[in-house]
Amino acid sequence: MSWGETVAAALRGDGVRPRPTVLLNPGPVNVDERVRRALVHPDICHREVEFSDLMTRAREKASEACGGDERYTSVLFTGSGTSSLEATISSIVPADGRVLIIENGHYGERLAAITSAHGISHERLTSDWGSQIDLDRLDETLARDLAVTHVGLVHHETSTGMLNPLHEVGEIVAGHHRSLIVDAVSSVGGELLDVRSDHVDWCVGTANKCIEGLPGVSFVCARHDMLEELGAVRSRTFYLDLHRQYVAEHRELSPPFTPAIQVCNAFDIALDLLLEETVASRFARYSALAGRLRSGLLECGVELLLPPEHRASTVTAAWLGDRVAYGPLHDALKSEGFVVYAGQGTFGRSMFRVANMGQVTAEDIDRFLDSLGRVLQRLR
Ligand SMILES: *Cc1c(COP(=O)(O)O)cnc(C)c1O
Repeated sequence: MSWGETVAAALRGDGVRPRPTVLLNPGPVNVDERVRRALVHPDICHREVEFSDLMTRAREKASEACGGDERYTSVLFTGSGTSSLEATISSIVPADGRVLIIENGHYGERLAAITSAHGISHERLTSDWGSQIDLDRLDETLARDLAVTHVGLVHHETSTGMLNPLHEVGEIVAGHHRSLIVDAVSSVGGELLDVRSDHVDWCVGTANKCIEGLPGVSFVCARHDMLEELGAVRSRTFYLDLHRQYVAEHRELSPPFTPAIQVCNAFDIALDLLLEETVASRFARYSALAGRLRSGLLECGVELLLPPEHRASTVTAAWLGDRVAYGPLHDALKSEGFVVYAGQGTFGRSMFRVANMGQVTAEDIDRFLDSLGRVLQRLR
């Protein structure tokens, strides 16, 4: 039976089970059984109180996961993380505004691409992929270019596994009285992030990475007063209008368009599990797994891209080495039940990435390292 046939038979209840795959890619992740079961939700209408309650609960919990207090809220979108990033960028920058984008990897480049797609004035503060961002240059640029109204930062640059210094950037941006947009898509829930103490004005997250929900919903966490003020800014899109979405969710208690109801329910359950575990403990759990993975990789003779102090808790970028190509490595590991991820951009041919987000256990990591050791020996 092919994998597809096995899945179909399992869903029919034929007593077969597809072999579980350990997802070592940075989202979507392996989820808790309770999150998967949450998809089997009674049929409801999104204009009824059942959905209003679900949406309101999830919005509050998403803000809590970002460190927000009662001044903050979250606006939910049906769509992957990029939809909420695009909603934010296209809705909050006024016609005469200008965005400074801090770039040191693929997702920084993507923030610039979104800004550019909407014809928004912007400039880029670039560092090489895998290099640290230049805080002095940020400070100087903000002092010099008074036209800049907003700064965009990727917290965890998933393309390299680098954790950018959010707190330091937040202090500099707030010191210059500019507004900070943070792509926290691969960090919310898995890294220490606090919208208040880190001075994050617009914090964008998604369900299916460190929150350990399922793909299909994402959100923007911001202060109520700032969301209210967006009424004066003309949005550049109809569907992704952040102010419209906020007003509908907050005042009318129903989103303007049909949401992914079942996925929202899985998101809500995933948030319960996150808040019960606490973000700090999840960060500690991920960090311990990453530590185990990284020492195992080094033992296999695999070299890592970043110095330890810049690594995030969930993604490890590693060099393939001279004799190993990504395709055969990926396929061999896949046949043993592990999905790893390719390098991106500059590192497309020379690196691979291993993530440890989601319901991954120490035992999974050990089995993976065992497989990797054998596969590398064969390929080298
Ligand atoms: C995954 C990711 C995104 C968005 O990806 P989607 O596929 O749209 O969910 C954006 N930024 C970062 C840093 C990411 O890791």
